[in-house]
Amino acid sequence: CGIFGIVFAERPRRPLGEILRRSLERLEYRGYDSAGVAVVDRGLVVRKDAGKVAEVASRHGFDALQGVAGLAHTRWATHGAPNQINAHPHTDCRGVLAVVHNGIIENYAELREELAKRGHIFRTETDTEVFVHLVEEYKRQGLDTFSAFKKALARIKGAYAIALIDAENPQVIYFARNLSPLIIGVGDGFNIVASDIPTVLDHTRRVIAIKDGEYGYITPTKVYIELDGLLQDAASRIEEIPWS
Ligand code: GLU
Repeated sequence: CGIFGIVFAERPRRPLGEILRRSLERLEYRGYDSAGVAVVDRGLVVRKDAGKVAEVASRHGFDALQGVAGLAHTRWATHGAPNQINAHPHTDCRGVLAVVHNGIIENYAELREELAKRGHIFRTETDTEVFVHLVEEYKRQGLDTFSAFKKALARIKGAYAIALIDAENPQVIYFARNLSPLIIGVGDGFNIVASDIPTVLDHTRRVIAIKDGEYGYITPTKVYIELDGLLQDAASRIEEIPWS
């Protein structure tokens, strides 16, 4: 029920895992049954489980995880029981892509069947897992990660706020929004995607509101948003939230 992603120009002073754990605590009020994180450093590391953020975080040592880019998720299960396997982030077969998702992918059953026929092994009962396999499939067909991400978006129906990282292209977080909230936070040497403003405000007062139907990617220094097939630097959309 809450997503968070952050990408730094270089390893942050506090371990990335601690930053992710704090963001999960921020998102707790939205309600959830499971929590998880993914970090990219020299490879992809995923830690997740059912339970309260504090318990899951200490059981799985979130605070010690290092990296330059990471995702965090609090889950409110809609498809698949609330357990460790079904907790987000979800990964592709090779373990280089990780995705977090809020919402429901309505046409997941047919996509799952199609992907299974193409050899994708599904490990969870969630609707979300089809998305990461779709991106993997299009990468396998030769597309770059952003093109694969867009092609995967075009295949899914439903409500989503999605963030994806690719350990083969570690300083980018891809995002998309349709009928679930998503905010960008613009920092100094880092950028953020998050489900709500309070979670962003822990890090920066500069935000960009993402609209339904928009998608793009963040790097440590840039925010790109594509709308109607046009990819644009979103710097002109930054709003400053006053201290109050
Ligand atoms: N439908 C997804 C699941 O059941 C995401 C649920 C959520 O928004 O937390 O895993």
